[in-house]
Amino acid sequence: MIPYGRQDVTDEDVRAVCVALKSDWLTQGPTVPRFEEAVAGVCGARHAVAVNSATSALHIACLALGLGHGDWLWTTPITFVASANCGLYCGAQVDFVDIDTRTYNMCPRALEVKLIEAEKTGRLPKLLVVVHLCGQSCEMTAIRALSQKYSFKVIEDASHSIGGKLENEYIGNCRYSDITVFSFHPVKIITSAEGGMALTQCDELAYKMALFRGHGITRDSQHMTQASDGPWYYQQIELGYNYRMTDLQAALGLSQLERLDQYVNRRRELAKLYDESLKNLPVTLPWQHPDVVSVYHLYVIRLNEKLENRHRHFFENLRGRGIGVNLHYIPVYRHPHYEKMGLYSPSDYPEAERYYRQAVTLPLYPALSEVQVAEVSKKVRIAIQEFA
Ligand SMILES: *Cc1c(COP(=O)(O)O)cnc(C)c1O
Repeated sequence: MIPYGRQDVTDEDVRAVCVALKSDWLTQGPTVPRFEEAVAGVCGARHAVAVNSATSALHIACLALGLGHGDWLWTTPITFVASANCGLYCGAQVDFVDIDTRTYNMCPRALEVKLIEAEKTGRLPKLLVVVHLCGQSCEMTAIRALSQKYSFKVIEDASHSIGGKLENEYIGNCRYSDITVFSFHPVKIITSAEGGMALTQCDELAYKMALFRGHGITRDSQHMTQASDGPWYYQQIELGYNYRMTDLQAALGLSQLERLDQYVNRRRELAKLYDESLKNLPVTLPWQHPDVVSVYHLYVIRLNEKLENRHRHFFENLRGRGIGVNLHYIPVYRHPHYEKMGLYSPSDYPEAERYYRQAVTLPLYPALSEVQVAEVSKKVRIAIQEFA
């Protein structure tokens, strides 16, 4: 089976991890800050806080921004559940904004309409989590303008999009947001096995996120409530978590980061090949916003409306032919945990619903060959012809 995504681990990666393994540090040690500085440097952020997953990064980002009981977090329904769950972890309630027809990212027009409604009912969000789906940035200028008008904070869930650009600047510089989060899960652009990172330009947010990562414990007398009892002394000043990244993970991530541009270029090259070889089929290919450079974490095609009722058949057909197609994502409000809250109606999200009836993720990862792209394309063509 050709999977939809797969990590690429080189001999240099293995050597880098072995060096860390034989060092004095297995848990968070000197390699973690090196990885943090390297990612912050590439992206143009002042601070980066490495953690054990993007899920943890989203959680500490919400905590640092003060999300809590009685607050609302809004996000897109077409995302991995973690983008929404972070709100629930903090005791907040979650709501969703429908997607744009072309980018499948959160639609700024739909956001504005929902904000106008929410203002009337006193239910404005405290925090918005936008997701750069497939590696393509959201329309951040419009979203930032709304965040200023309606006074909510913004987290970019950039789990798909390290190395991507908006208006010629790297995602992660937080020009239009408070915090940006990356994932280093093996299917993402670069990996540290499990791992994530939260970037910000704000000293205070960086300090708080580092605190929440490590049990809420400080060893800095400046932040303590009283003078030190002695050289052993530390204080727990918040309820934090053990979300630390290990030095082994940081060593892998740092080594992978060296090949970020190479990976992005390769993914863009392969996407172009797909664009070419699928162009005359009754499917919609990924549309690219002119201000954006996507890293193509995912290559999503959509069956045209008249083929919609063959969506499942199409999946089964391709899986049967050894093509590991997937669907990113099931609208979050459709999951039983969200459904049972009784807050959401699929009819409020017509674009997300339409997307869910049509979307198919084709295999795309750096080690995929041109021959394999041709093979996948051919099988897509055959599958479509079979139900014509
Ligand atoms: C993968 C992913 C996450 C979670 O990442 P982990 O590092 O596995 O916790 C969050 N949001 C999105 C959009 C993702 O794709």
